[in-house]
Amino acid sequence: MPTQEAVLDVLKHVTDPELPFLSVIDLGMIEQVEVSPEGKVHVVMLPTFAGCPALEWLKENIRSAVENLPGVSAVEVEVSLAKTWSTNRMTEAARQKLKEKGIAPPHTYTGTLDVSSLQKPIPCPYCGSENTELRSPFGPALCRAFYRCNDCGQTFERFKPV
Ligand SMILES: [Zn+2]
Repeated sequence: MPTQEAVLDVLKHVTDPELPFLSVIDLGMIEQVEVSPEGKVHVVMLPTFAGCPALEWLKENIRSAVENLPGVSAVEVEVSLAKTWSTNRMTEAARQKLKEKGIAPPHTYTGTLDVSSLQKPIPCPYCGSENTELRSPFGPALCRAFYRCNDCGQTFERFKPV
């Protein structure tokens, strides 16, 4: 039968369609993995942003990735609403990857998201300057906002904390 580690390992290759360099592991979306002695795998995932319509796509990709592991007889992917996913669950590796792509990682989510919290200065991922301003609260994806750095002139995206 497959090990839990093997399942988690294969999930590192299942990526978010909007952020294809981040896996469901990077995003902290996988809440639980259970493997029965018969090789049945039960994966519990937390949905990320309500506005990101990628859930079915992700479920299917998780299922097909795990299904290909040797010894797996069945895969069940459950979407749990028992807990709320938060950007706080993103791994350090995920934050690093966001920065490398020129996207400012989310700051710690404290329970509310309003435009005033998005207007707080955040360091530019290119030069580190805090002289940045919010251009549009809605970036190309609902999950992201657009900023401009007044020092180096770069525009960049920021992952909204939720
Ligand atoms: Zn800058």
